[in-house]
Amino acid sequence: MKALVLTAPNEFSIRDVPTPAPGRHEVLCRVRAVTICGTDAHLVAGDYPGFWPPEYPFIPGHEWAGEVVELGEGSAALGLAVGDRVAGTSHDACGFCQKCVEGRYNLCENYGNLDVHRQYGHNWQGAYAEYVVHGVKAVFPLPDELSFAEGAMLDPASIALHTANRGGIRPGDVVAALIDNESTLKTFVKEGRKTYLRAENPKYPDLVPAAELVIQGVVVSVLRRCR
Ligand SMILES: [Zn+2]
Ligand SMILES: [Zn+2]
Repeated sequence: MKALVLTAPNEFSIRDVPTPAPGRHEVLCRVRAVTICGTDAHLVAGDYPGFWPPEYPFIPGHEWAGEVVELGEGSAALGLAVGDRVAGTSHDACGFCQKCVEGRYNLCENYGNLDVHRQYGHNWQGAYAEYVVHGVKAVFPLPDELSFAEGAMLDPASIALHTANRGGIRPGDVVAALIDNESTLKTFVKEGRKTYLRAENPKYPDLVPAAELVIQGVVVSVLRRCR
């Protein structure tokens, strides 16, 4: 398969690499859409030496959507099937520590123990590739009404939605804008009776319209369901 392979800080190329095989409770997915996270830019630049990635060569990418093409042992019994449309998340956490049991698996107490917790695209091979292997806990079914491009935005959109939920923001609220000139600007704006999330990135102004549309579509539909 072809993949974007990072070989040193700011050194990367598209290469032919072996297609990974799914292990127990894993699935092999064909990547149909993948985004560039703010973390990816830092990771590619070598801003987390020895940590993300722990070593080279490395395939980044952790915000993606695609379809299941092969099941590892035991995955069918957990409800996965070839052809499923799924969106990925980076954490494949242990599932049995206190934080995982509480559903806060991104804070898994076994982070760094790669036998039980892998963070794809950070300390484990990621999705800047034609195919990626994920554990079944790290893929989520994609509803038919969401495209692969929208599915790839679910990971960052869920972070923004979590922020909105923690702040108690509800559709129709009047809200303040939070501005961070260094990274993505995330702004909740009121329009009529609806509350929207708007994203702008001053570093990459030509990327704004598409990202803005996708994030609005995802978050607004989620907010509508919450009513
Ligand atoms: Zn991300
Ligand atoms: Zn855990």
